This record gives sequence, structure tokens and C-alpha cells, in this order.
Amino acid sequence: MTQEKKNIAIIGSGLVGSLLAIYLKRYGHKITVFDRRPDIRNIEFSGRSINLAMSNRGWNALKTVGIEDEIRKIAIPLDKRAMHVIGKEQYFQKYGKDGEAIWSISRGVLNKRMIDLAEENGVDFRFEEKVWDIDLPEAIVYTGETEKGEWKEYPFDLVFGCDGAFSRVRHKMQRRSRFDYSQDFIDVGYKELTIPANADGTHKLDKHSFHIWPRGKFMFIAMPNLDGSFTCTLFMPFEGDISFESLKTKKDAVHFFNTYFPNVKDEIENLTEDFFRNPTSAMVTMKCYPWTYWDKVALVGDSAHAVVPFYGQGMNAGFEDIFVLNQLIQEFGDDWGHIFSTYQEKRKPNADAIAELSYRNFMEMSSKTADTNFLLQKKIEKHFSTKHPEKWIPAYSRVTFSNRPYLEALAEGDAQEEIMKEVMKIPDIAEKWDSEEIENFMLELIK
Ligand code: FAD
Repeated sequence: MTQEKKNIAIIGSGLVGSLLAIYLKRYGHKITVFDRRPDIRNIEFSGRSINLAMSNRGWNALKTVGIEDEIRKIAIPLDKRAMHVIGKEQYFQKYGKDGEAIWSISRGVLNKRMIDLAEENGVDFRFEEKVWDIDLPEAIVYTGETEKGEWKEYPFDLVFGCDGAFSRVRHKMQRRSRFDYSQDFIDVGYKELTIPANADGTHKLDKHSFHIWPRGKFMFIAMPNLDGSFTCTLFMPFEGDISFESLKTKKDAVHFFNTYFPNVKDEIENLTEDFFRNPTSAMVTMKCYPWTYWDKVALVGDSAHAVVPFYGQGMNAGFEDIFVLNQLIQEFGDDWGHIFSTYQEKRKPNADAIAELSYRNFMEMSSKTADTNFLLQKKIEKHFSTKHPEKWIPAYSRVTFSNRPYLEALAEGDAQEEIMKEVMKIPDIAEKWDSEEIENFMLELIK
């Protein structure tokens, strides 16, 4: 597909902005990417590596533009969860069918590689140039040192806002009439900590697992890095009995790690040091609409839809936005008005669906893991799904290992929930949960 060449600005060189630049450059457009930050390729990382999980939707977007193989080389497949439950030996839960895995990848390494690839293809990057304002109808971008200082003015044909959850581009759109916007912070924060590699560079925990220490109101997770270390995240309420606020001294933190995470005892010194050195961050769900302004401006990625990270889908959803935009470019050619309106109509319900699924996962993890009925329900679902994998695909698999719309995963999940409500009403269900009677009852309800 050839397109009339346009002069395009992308605001934000994060994961979504840099991938979008690679896609659009393939059509021969002139692409300029602005970022307020310095070029991450020139930044010496402090040794801390932050990673995220890439799943099917992310890979699909990378494959279409021919960089999947390149990126797989810098990722580690995780085919199971490793559960660290107090009073039990570590045990494993396979994610899906054989060959299905999520992939742990360093955010920094991935971003650097994509900026390199975009630049090799002729994309122009302007780092340390913050966008303060944008003239929506004229697609003019204004940058400068400070908000009140002198600004530079750049005219474009099209502008893409890939500037994250607190987007400046969206901020400008918000001032228009009939622009819907909401943001909801959860009362849980997170802190990133590290488990370093063994002296010989090997991993201290199983490197093909996503490690989880569920502890009711709080939770610790760890994902492997290529250098043998693990990036860990501690999710915990900001305030309350056991909270970020309650751990004030080194002694408090040591006691906390010792009590709740006995199998990482050897790492306590390191974890405690990180605990006081690293920031505590907040998590937000952000929804807005419309995502576009005529045929001039579009929001892509977190600037259009930010979700809490409990499904590991934020970046994957942003990459899928790009995949869909590209399909529409193929379909509608130069008709950017049509491309943009169809893009937002198609993506918005799916973005809302993954926001809901992500929030529900947070609620499940934080309030239901100690509920015996909930645990029994999950056990029945798992038992049934193992026996009838084609009849009961768990929502996690639909979201993570398929490219079917998020909305479908949400709807199927709701339908399964209705069935389980009926199952849980059966007298003595706790005794006969794995019986043929229950299996047949569920088969009957699915029909
Ligand atoms: P960002 O990554 O926020 O990038 C925005 C860019 O825009 C930045 O480079 C910024 O400097 C630049 N910018 C901002 N404002 C301006 C301005 N005014 N002018 C110029 N430049 C500007 N997703 C997954 O898929 N899997 C996971 O496992 C996962 N784990 C996560 C764990 C945590 C704890 C969190 C918080 C998120 C996680 N996510 C995960 C979500 C993922 O990080 C985001 O969805 C993703 O980074 C969004 O990319 P983006 O490019 O849209 O925005």
C-alpha cells in the first residue's frame, strides 16, 4: 500500500511511540519523534533493570513489522507461575498449553532497540524537547524549555500523542467540549526491588517462571532478566497496618521481609536497601474519549487508555492499537479521517474491557485470595478446564495467548461467572467439586 507522504509528529519515544514510528516510516512518511527525556541509549543504567511481560498481542504487532525475531533474542520465555505460599513448598502452575508462554523483557533494552531500528529507517528523534502545547486543527506542535519561556513551533500534517498516561496532547483535547475523561487511582502502590544474579551469573530462582508471593493485602512478584538478576515488584497499600507508610526503619523492613518472604532470606540486605532507595509509585486507570481530532491528531497507547498492571497488558494493548491502525491504513489508504474514526470506534470498547479485566484481577488478588469459596470456585474451574480445554478457556488465556478482542474475553469471562454462580449454589459442593455430577451439570449449562 502506498500513501501520500505526510509530515508526521509523534509525541513520546516510549515503547508505543517508537514502534509506531517504525510502522509509519515504512509508508515513506517524514517522521519526527519528540521526547522530553534524554536519549535513553546514552543513559548508563544504574544496574537496575525494569522488565515487563510481552504476550501474544505484543508479539503480533512486532511480527507484522518484521522485528519479532530480533526482539525474542532479548526476552526470556516464562511458561508457568512459581507460587511461594507461606507454609508450602514452592509449586508451579503452567500458564497454558505446551509452548504457551509470556516473555520477560527489559523495558530499557526493548525501547533502545526500537529507537535504533526506527532511526536506521530514517526516523528523526528530537530528545530533551518537551511538548507544551498543540494546535489541534492546524497540527502545530509547540516545544520549549519551560511552560512560560519561549517556544519553538513545528507545523505537521498529523500528530500522534504517545506521551503516556499523563499526556500533554490529551490534556489539550480535554479542554474541548464533550470530551470524556476519568482517572482512578487504587490505594495500592508499588516499589521495584532487585534480586541480583549468583556470582557466576546464573539466576537464583527458576528463570522460566513468573514468581509470585501472594500475601492477601500485599504481594511480591519477580521476573528474570538476561543478566541473571530478577526485577521484583512489591505491591502494597500506601496506608494501613502493613503498608508502605508503616515500614519506616531498616529494622521494620528487615522484619517484614523475614516474616513474609522467608525463602528469599539471603536477599534481605539487598531488598531492604532497594526499599529505601527506590520510589513508591501509584497506579491509575485512565479512560477518555474521543481519542482523535478529525484527521489531524490521534492518541495511541497509555495516553488513550492507562490500566492497572495486574494483567500485564498495558504495553500489549498499546502495541495492538498500532496493529489495528496499520490494518486501517491498509484498508482506507489516504483517508486519515476515516482511519482515525474507525480506529477509535474499534479500540475504545476493547481498551475499556482490558481496564475492567485488569481492575478485577487486582481485586481478586487483593481481597479474594483468602476467601475459601473463591478458592474452591477456582479449583473447580481449573479441574473442568483441564478435562474440557476447548469448552472452558480461562479468561487469562483469552487475554494473554490469543489475539481475539479483549471485549470477547470479558464477555466470555462474565458468562463463565454466571455458570459458576449456579455451581457454587449446589449443596455440599466442597465435597463433590471434582465429581461427574458437577462436570455434567457444567456441560449442561454451557450448551
Ligand atoms: P510511556 O511508556 O509512558 O511513554 C511515554 C513517553 O512520552 C515517555 O518517553 C515520556 O518521556 C514522553 N513524554 C511524556 N510527556 C511528554 C511531553 N510533554 N513532551 C515530550 N515527550 C513526552 N505492560 C505490559 O504489556 N506488560 C507488563 O508486564 C507491564 N507491566 C507493568 C508494570 C508496572 C508496574 C506498570 C506501571 C506498567 C506496566 N505495564 C505493562 C504497562 C506499560 O508500562 C505501559 O502500558 C507502556 O509503557 C505504555 O507505553 P507508552 O509508550 O504509551 O507510554
